[in-house]
Amino acid sequence: MMLFMLLENRILDPARGDVIVFNNTASEHPDTYRFARDCEAASCRYGVPFFWIEFQTFEDSVGGEWSRRPSYRLVNSRPWSADNPDGFHWRGEVFEELLSWSCYVPNQFRRICTQKMKLETTRMFLTDWLAAKDGIRHLGHHGKTSRISADSMYARHRRNQGRVPKDILLGKRHFVLNRPHQRPKQRYEDFSPVWQRFENPATQSRVFGGRARFGKGAVEYVAFVGLRGDEQHRVKRVEDRNIGPGASGYEGEHVYMPLADMAVSRDDVNDFWDKQDWDLALPSEGSLSNCVYCFLKGAANLKAVHAKMEAQRGLDVPGFGPMAGTPCDIDWWDEMERRYGRDLKAEGRTIHGNPKNEVLGFFGASTGFSYSVLRESSETDIEEFSETMLPCDCTE
Ligand code: SF4
Repeated sequence: MMLFMLLENRILDPARGDVIVFNNTASEHPDTYRFARDCEAASCRYGVPFFWIEFQTFEDSVGGEWSRRPSYRLVNSRPWSADNPDGFHWRGEVFEELLSWSCYVPNQFRRICTQKMKLETTRMFLTDWLAAKDGIRHLGHHGKTSRISADSMYARHRRNQGRVPKDILLGKRHFVLNRPHQRPKQRYEDFSPVWQRFENPATQSRVFGGRARFGKGAVEYVAFVGLRGDEQHRVKRVEDRNIGPGASGYEGEHVYMPLADMAVSRDDVNDFWDKQDWDLALPSEGSLSNCVYCFLKGAANLKAVHAKMEAQRGLDVPGFGPMAGTPCDIDWWDEMERRYGRDLKAEGRTIHGNPKNEVLGFFGASTGFSYSVLRESSETDIEEFSETMLPCDCTE
């Protein structure tokens, strides 16, 4: 709704370099992907480019030592397949690459998923985009196989005060080391039919080494975020990040949340979409949007998500494939928690509270909650867990 208000009122101007970004975590519902594709098609009619981007790592050498560094790639709006290697991922690959690279899972206090797959990925994209080139450069080496050795990777982990035993570390890193170790050169015109090179004097003179630099005296930009007026605690979180005391925000970024400023509510948004001839086909209360089983949705919401997704588990979605084994299936989240959750005992860390809390998963050690508990819990158990967990809070 916010996007179409901006487009209809001609507030977005492609000649200035305005751009629309969709951060793909590879963990959304197929209907969300269809909706993003429809939004892309509609925004193209206004001439504003819409890019799908994904977090990815690549191999780089610093001082002769090879390691994986974070970056991103452009993808098109059709699912990845052997015939469409530039397609977007939806079977959890992007999320798992992050977990395998970082060797732990996010939780409500360390939301590395939002930070790495959305905020920092967008920022890296803008660093390139605002330099007004034709595309993004190749990253990584051209060798056929990985150049990272297990011994040097473990030595680096120890140097950084890591305490994960070597065999566990290597097991966790297996996935990321088998992901593409380079990012190819990519041209914007291959990913947006309405892309045109823009010339904005306000940014042109602030580009150094082919990349935009941000902050006072450098490039500044406005980022629109579609949080509503009835989502004040999420609004506050974004404001705190951007302008609050000790803001960790991104230099040069000015976040604007027009729906929140205009006190637009969930009902207003639903009214808007009721009047359109297309829509996000998911339930309007939003429980399936964002990453399907996002750990921030709260225990009661997650139980509702699980009931809905169990009913879809056997589906083979046209154009996508089987849902089973993807982030639309609780087994995928349970597997991620087991594979990448931190085993505090193996790391020789002090275990606080219940001595059974040896594994630090998506819900923290102290809640006693996990995806396997969610799968087995009764409604009464869920009510008890709900009191100790925060509600859905992904702000991006
Ligand atoms: S929706 Fe949830 S799981 Fe997905 S990136 Fe946001 S916080 Fe992380």
